Amino acid sequence: MRQQIAAANWKMNLTWEQGQQLLKGILDANVTPKQNQAVIIAVPFPYLTAAKEIVEKKAGYFVAAQNCYHKKSGAFTGEVSAEMLKSIGVKYVIIGHSERREYFNETNQQLADKLNLLLENGIVPVFCCGEPLAVREANEQNSYVEQQLVESLFHLTPEQISGIVIAYEPIWAIGTGKTATADQAQEIQAYLRSVLAGKYGKEVAAKIPVLYGGSVKAANAKEIFSNEDVDGGLVGGASLQADEFVKIIEGLK
Ligand code: PEP
Repeated sequence: MRQQIAAANWKMNLTWEQGQQLLKGILDANVTPKQNQAVIIAVPFPYLTAAKEIVEKKAGYFVAAQNCYHKKSGAFTGEVSAEMLKSIGVKYVIIGHSERREYFNETNQQLADKLNLLLENGIVPVFCCGEPLAVREANEQNSYVEQQLVESLFHLTPEQISGIVIAYEPIWAIGTGKTATADQAQEIQAYLRSVLAGKYGKEVAAKIPVLYGGSVKAANAKEIFSNEDVDGGLVGGASLQADEFVKIIEGLK
């Protein structure tokens, strides 16, 4: 079975003291991921090392960064490279979150560059994609997201693409309380897998975890994750409450 993942995205929330409390709440619940499951917690850069010491003591739990820069190194004040993240043992990095695309003007080409740098450094990229509301209303979501995949991912070899995670996150569902229905999530995620299969073959496409993100919470996680092409979730708001996020972990198949 494909890997199933519950990923938390803290965004720019919580002091380190609050973060430690939250991690304690999650770990104290003592949910042990099955062989095919992983829990990933994406924390702000300053907390990575300390969070790793707490989180990665537990098997199946990992810390992630929320971004990295699209250049290898150099005079880019304030930025953080894939190589730096590797040097402190970070195993997963979220890239292309819609907030970064929108507020920091990240392009599909820059994301392609980030993917290359992460893969060169042995880090698993969690590549976010998803359409804005107007595109969904025009029923053009499939081609919109397909283009994001083509422009950012399709230069990768089959071996490289087998080492990434995709998170489909419709922008209209992020932080809005509006969730795609389980059927909507399944429909587009099956489509995305067929796009991957068209380029890389069915066997490779079948291996790539595709998460759903957008107002996932304890009450809807299990139903959304039960779909064949939904391999868990990327969770913002609900990941800031230990009891909610623990139930989301328990909703993985
Ligand atoms: C996200 O930030 O990736 C996200 C899906 O947020 P939320 O769960 O709050 O909608």
